[in-house]
Amino acid sequence: MSGNITFTMIKPKAIADGHMGNIIKKIIEGGFNIKALKYTRLTKNDARKFYEVHKERPFYNDLVEFMSSGPIIAAVLEKDNAVEDYRTYIGSTNPAEAAEGTIRKLYATSIEANAVHGSDSDENALIESGFFFSQREMF
Ligand code: ADP
Ligand code: MG
Repeated sequence: MSGNITFTMIKPKAIADGHMGNIIKKIIEGGFNIKALKYTRLTKNDARKFYEVHKERPFYNDLVEFMSSGPIIAAVLEKDNAVEDYRTYIGSTNPAEAAEGTIRKLYATSIEANAVHGSDSDENALIESGFFFSQREMF
């Protein structure tokens, strides 16, 4: 049985491009209930830790630099089948391959600066939510 929680970030480039309002609006319109929300910035160490599973990948160092380059929005989202539905809703990692109308198709500028993060499993959704939020910050 799949869970009802996923975790997302609006990445620095989408914030810098002025898309945070539109992306939050689109998330709500997609039927995702916002359980927690924070405007914050990752240190390099935070970004290294958050993306540790990718540390052997060639893009890891650039990704750490990018994700710590400016403020982000972090949020916990609630919906039936949240992880899978949100990944469908945001579109492919590479925005060039993302379906029409998805968040990445609309707001991403490159495979790295792909507008938003979305958890890839129920387990990671909980780990990633805990990275940013305490229980008393989730509603
Ligand atoms: P997703 O965010 O769709 O789950 P991954 O977990 O594979 O994708 O990758 C994590 C993040 O690393 C991506 O969202 C993107 O910002 C970046 N990334 C992935 N692949 C590449 C790549 N080939 N070149 C540069 N950055 C990448
Ligand atoms: Mg991923």
